[in-house]
Amino acid sequence: MAVTEPAPAPPLAAHEGILRRQSLRESAARTYARSLPIVPVRARGLTIEGADGRRYLDCLSGAGTLALGHNHPVVLEAIKRVLDSGAPLHVLDLATPVKDAFVTELFSTLPRDFADNARVQFCGPAGTDAVEAAFKLVRAATGRSGLLAFTGAYHGMTAGALAASGGAEDVRVTRLPFPQDYRCPFGIGGEAGARTAAHWTENLLDDPKSGTPAPAGMILEPVQGEGGVNPAPDGWMRRMREITETRSIPLIADEVQTGVGRTGAFWAVGHSGIVPDVMVLSKAIGGSLPLAVIVYRSELDTWQPGAHAGTFRGNQLAMAAGTATLAYVRENGLAERAGVLGARMLASLRSLAADHPCVGDVRGRGLMIGVEIVDPEARPQGTGTEPPPDPVLAATVQQECLSRGLIVELGGRYSTVVRLLPPLTLTDEQATAVVDRLADALAAAERSPHRRLPTGSLR
Ligand code: PMP
Repeated sequence: MAVTEPAPAPPLAAHEGILRRQSLRESAARTYARSLPIVPVRARGLTIEGADGRRYLDCLSGAGTLALGHNHPVVLEAIKRVLDSGAPLHVLDLATPVKDAFVTELFSTLPRDFADNARVQFCGPAGTDAVEAAFKLVRAATGRSGLLAFTGAYHGMTAGALAASGGAEDVRVTRLPFPQDYRCPFGIGGEAGARTAAHWTENLLDDPKSGTPAPAGMILEPVQGEGGVNPAPDGWMRRMREITETRSIPLIADEVQTGVGRTGAFWAVGHSGIVPDVMVLSKAIGGSLPLAVIVYRSELDTWQPGAHAGTFRGNQLAMAAGTATLAYVRENGLAERAGVLGARMLASLRSLAADHPCVGDVRGRGLMIGVEIVDPEARPQGTGTEPPPDPVLAATVQQECLSRGLIVELGGRYSTVVRLLPPLTLTDEQATAVVDRLADALAAAERSPHRRLPTGSLR
């Protein structure tokens, strides 16, 4: 009897081979690659083209890095100029004309009274490294070691930054309530919720028996990004400034994600008009290449030479790309544009929510937008009155977006907040296309039979 050979496996398309090798060779800790199985080969503005020839609207933007979208001509031109000039690409933290131009441009975008008396420290290339630097700076300046940070915060993945992020445990970090309307920790929301959160903070700092270590600083995000797109109310920001100022606690604004026009102001602290003591900046300031700095009041500059060193603090290409990006955003009013367009997108998404009961909340500021996915049929859990978050449905929405050529990220406590971080160069037509695709994806996800998690499994 003839033995039939198994049919040979059909040849894998090139992109499938790349994806298969990635899953075989790369770490179990890989993140975006799991939910976005695409192989980008070309990109321009909002659009990414995959090796399979498909095109995607990219609302992830390198986790909020690409203020001008992919490969903006002014960024490419700035990089080419450095390459063609023969300038050294690696210079540690030495002075160069490229760096000088970057610092001049950066300082021109900062609040005047801050910039006039500020110092900048170039850190290792990631946002998390600048967060570490900020903590060292304020600890050296105050001689204290405690830190004040907020529920739902995200500051990075190195030890100190992680300890200050929500979900981590560190005895030196005191966790304070971040105000939020939806799922307000005090069950009230709105202004009353924010007032109560501020009251809690003030009370804890003044209570000699609160068990709170003396704080070297308070770190906050003007809009929590990874924490689920939670904009801090302006009044609450001003209260945090007063509370820290009157107690000589340096206030650290983590603008890694909110900076460079993203929220409708060049720096998100501009909405409330507060001037922090330290600003942590990364992502968009490098114009798509790695760059991170802290900028701070010169009185804090008491740390010793070498207190925060690192080999890769002189990325000339990133500085040139960053200078071009900062200047382009400033000269073209892209922060204001992000504010107007973001408000319009929020309004469209909110009207969409009326037809989609799985949309529990739509919130954001500028082009930092979140859509929280809930299970409308399940009973509220614990203390909340809102329907419980639905991580399975949220993941389905993300996949339905992808199959419609729209790349979105998931964030928030339970990975149930669909996040939109489009470039600030987004056109009206592109904004409509993004909302339309998301609407279709929501409808498709709602139709799909999805596994419901057992009650209580989210906590
Ligand atoms: N702070 C904030 C507010 C962030 O959003 C992030 C990154 N998402 C970081 C810090 C850490 O930046 P990086 O991933 O470059 O280390």
